[in-house]
Amino acid sequence: MPDLRLSTLRFWIVPLLAIVATLSAAQAPTPEPVTDQETELGQAVYKQLRTKGEIVESSPLYDTLKPVAEAIARVAQPHYPHPFKFFLVHETQPNAFATPGGNVYVVDSLLYFVKNTEQLAGTLCHEVSHTIHRDGVALMEKERRIERREVAAAILLGPTRAHIIAIALIGKLHSLGYSRDAESKADVTGADICAQAGFNPWGLTWLFQDFQNAEPGQVPQLLSDHPGNGARIQTLEKHFRDNPATFSKFSRDPKSATPFSVPKNAPEVFLRADTGNGN
Ligand SMILES: [Zn+2]
Repeated sequence: MPDLRLSTLRFWIVPLLAIVATLSAAQAPTPEPVTDQETELGQAVYKQLRTKGEIVESSPLYDTLKPVAEAIARVAQPHYPHPFKFFLVHETQPNAFATPGGNVYVVDSLLYFVKNTEQLAGTLCHEVSHTIHRDGVALMEKERRIERREVAAAILLGPTRAHIIAIALIGKLHSLGYSRDAESKADVTGADICAQAGFNPWGLTWLFQDFQNAEPGQVPQLLSDHPGNGARIQTLEKHFRDNPATFSKFSRDPKSATPFSVPKNAPEVFLRADTGNGN
């Protein structure tokens, strides 16, 4: 009875496809194939994070991140030749960082740290601006030169020591120290992007203010390394004043913020080196 079997198969395939479609809505994007130095640098970090088992492959948290990330990517994309892709990573310190090639990593705990959508949007707009400005390329080149030298030295000391140093260096990639000037420029471009994407660009200044009031251990790494949050707020305020056509419609009052809700203790499935999703 082949017909019966076929219809039984259809009976199962349709709901199965629906489940697959739902799951893929909450999944990590597929990384961009290597086509140039920027995607190569980005891919190197991606592989390191994947090896460490930090990349979240699927989680309901992606459903929270996606609408904000997509709105920002739509505005930022014309300014950068590689597609922006947003990955969730698991770490204890709330953080976000962008690598050359278009990948933006958002630490899951940042989603629990931010108080409103505007603060999250401000952070993502800031990170894509670093990518557009190519701030990461020069820094990663520098890191790579140090890495080569240190790993070469470490191999002389034996494989275990080399392994330890290599792991320490991977950690460094998280805390790329940009100059204050690069930070302020990313804030300003980020504010333009956020405004165009419809997110109140005051969100980033609200985040800076929250950092100033937070416990030292709670301060996201993306800002704790950079002194002068006050100066950054001033630069942004001046930018808002100088461009009233773009910014005067936004309220500086945090009470006007869009409340941000994240599913509590959302489950996370991690991407492993031996599972697919690119290379
Ligand atoms: Zn920055």
